[in-house]
Amino acid sequence: MTDARIIDGKAVAASVRDEISSRAAGLLDAQGIRPGLAVVLVGEDPASQVYVRNKDRTAEACGFNSIKHTLDAATPEADVLALVETLNNDPAVHGILVQLPLPKHIDESKVLRLIKPEKDVDGFHPVNVGLLTTGERDHALVPCTPAGSLVLLKRTLGDTLSGQNAVVVGRSNIVGKPMASLLLQESCTVTVAHSRTRDLPDVVRAADIVVAAVGRPEMIRGDWIKPGATVIDVGINRVPAPDLGEGKNRLIGDVAFDEAVQHAGAITPVPGGVGPMTIAMLMANTLTAARRQLGLPEET
Ligand code: NDP
Repeated sequence: MTDARIIDGKAVAASVRDEISSRAAGLLDAQGIRPGLAVVLVGEDPASQVYVRNKDRTAEACGFNSIKHTLDAATPEADVLALVETLNNDPAVHGILVQLPLPKHIDESKVLRLIKPEKDVDGFHPVNVGLLTTGERDHALVPCTPAGSLVLLKRTLGDTLSGQNAVVVGRSNIVGKPMASLLLQESCTVTVAHSRTRDLPDVVRAADIVVAAVGRPEMIRGDWIKPGATVIDVGINRVPAPDLGEGKNRLIGDVAFDEAVQHAGAITPVPGGVGPMTIAMLMANTLTAARRQLGLPEET
């Protein structure tokens, strides 16, 4: 079998961002309003700081108002809740994102439940989860990573998702479960695998579409991949890379890329696959949230 087509998430994300920027410019022209994205960071987690900086920069580049709130790690839960309440009531803020994880003394689900569902651009509020699972996607805000993964699948497979066997490895609320809901709505036959799944290699071998969201470096081997299958690797694992220099790391996925590329029909690389799509879809959600709050019709 020849090597798989590499799905270029960077290029697709750039085209999504370009489209969002021009739609945001159109909104500014027509209504004099910029979509407003508020990002709340509590504490100094280095990875979270990088994510928040990227979100802030991308929002600015898309022509949004980006509002960053950086709070001390010791901030009491009540103060975080009060900030969310203020942002909920601010008409210039259309999207609110509280960067996870929060420090241990703060109840994450309490904070996420307080965000107004229509401003919940991460798509984690139970109302948005419910709208997605009941098939009312047009009213929901969908979690960014699975939404971005679906965009990559559609750009790769076109309108042929219906009837395909899809295996999602991982059942987190952030990736695995919403991904399964999205694929089900595309009329795939969906299997959700997890750490208790028996004979995982055989389960994956039955898949026309594999979405790996496990958090274990290269766990999914090449000979688990059905010839010609489409592989979306959500995993981001930082592993030591002494060949790059002392103390250096590199990012690898949950799929053994060098092996899988010889079996798959198409595959996302790590980095440069799903990762860039996540922030692009956050921008898409913020623009969607702004238009809905302004009572404007959905754009297709
Ligand atoms: P979680 O740790 O929340 O979930 C991991 C899932 O994998 C769980 O459902 C777990 O099963 C399952 N799992 C763990 N070990 C095995 C195993 N040996 N066999 C089968 N299933 C297993 O992770 P997330 O969903 O948050 O993230 C998954 C990966 O995606 C991570 O690498 C993360 O960094 C990456 N990620 C990437 C994003 C991006 O923008 N590209 C965004 C978000 C995440 P069980 O439920 O039984 O414990």
